Amino acid sequence: TRKLLMHVGPVTIDYDVLVAGLRGDTGFTSQEFIDAMSFSLKYLRRLMGADETYQPFIIPGGGTSAMESVASVLRRGDKVLVVSNGVFGDRWKAIFNRYPVAVDIIKANPGEYVKPEEVEEKVSEEKYTLVAMTHVETSTGVREPIQEVTKRIRDKVDLIAVDGVSSVGAETVKAKDYQVDIYLTASQKAIGVPPGAGLLVLSERAVSRLSDESVAGYYLNLKNWIDVMRNLEEGKGSYFATLPVHLIFMLSKAFELMEKEGLENRIKRHEKVAKGIRAGIESMGLDIVAKRPEAYSNTVTGVLLKKANAGDVLREVISEGLELAPGVHPALAGKYFRIGHMGWVNPNDVITTIAVLERVLKRLGEPVNVGEGVRAVQLTYS
Ligand code: PMP
Repeated sequence: TRKLLMHVGPVTIDYDVLVAGLRGDTGFTSQEFIDAMSFSLKYLRRLMGADETYQPFIIPGGGTSAMESVASVLRRGDKVLVVSNGVFGDRWKAIFNRYPVAVDIIKANPGEYVKPEEVEEKVSEEKYTLVAMTHVETSTGVREPIQEVTKRIRDKVDLIAVDGVSSVGAETVKAKDYQVDIYLTASQKAIGVPPGAGLLVLSERAVSRLSDESVAGYYLNLKNWIDVMRNLEEGKGSYFATLPVHLIFMLSKAFELMEKEGLENRIKRHEKVAKGIRAGIESMGLDIVAKRPEAYSNTVTGVLLKKANAGDVLREVISEGLELAPGVHPALAGKYFRIGHMGWVNPNDVITTIAVLERVLKRLGEPVNVGEGVRAVQLTYS
């Protein structure tokens, strides 16, 4: 059976993107690679809603390497506030706990998000060097209102970092307008490229903090990468450590396709797909993990189960040609699964997803209205 991958990353890869990586004779000093990096770094600024004052980075790894590289702007004794809506918010704390900095955390219950007022209150009580947040919490599909938070805290903290791993390329991201100092993502999510690279932009303020005094280690110390990025953007070969050369060709092809589609259109397409998924799920009679409509994301929908076991659902849909993602929030273990809808998704994928889910869930004894989900999707798109 042909498989439809509706996952939270890696996601289905466009054929032209995949093929762009098929090169047997390309080194990191080749002009083609330098050109692909130069174009990708320039496009990354646009993708993040950043301008020339921001420094783009493309580093090996993924979301976690990009997150850990944020230690490059911290010094011994700095205070960090983590705003966490779930597993990946908590990851910020787990990372910073490995460094000689103080970490506070504000957490939301699963399905909820930390309110902008709560963040404001916390940063008014205490002086923080860095506030780290997650734009879309992949474990629950909840979106944090980044713009509202930054408006309230910008003048009270030195630096703001946002994990946009499940948002960049699918949600409105405006690093400059929101005055975010570090916005980051990974190649395998809404950008629609295989895993292998972390992508970030840093404001001038963040760049000015890169120094030998930072608590960062070696490989993920952005001070070691900045000249490489500047050189490559200017079309000059440069090396600190090997970049995922073949992946960069795929990335640059994906960015070319994004440019063709238009970023606004791409975000609208994700919005449209997410709307269809939610209409299908709700009309089928199931509940969504995200509790408030204003926090529904364009990229991930968590689906709560009343009777069926989530592991059984994931196994059964695979036998019907559909791969979904498991629920990973420990507080909801076994009670939900996730639908990833990012990258190159379209409404036809939504119909297939909802149709397969309806028949599988019925078979597994979940109380669903078979046909109602599909009908709702059709009505959404007609
Ligand atoms: N942050 C978020 C919001 C994520 O969804 C993920 C991964 N799914 C990560 C960070 C970590 O990224 P990676 O697995 O690429 O290291």
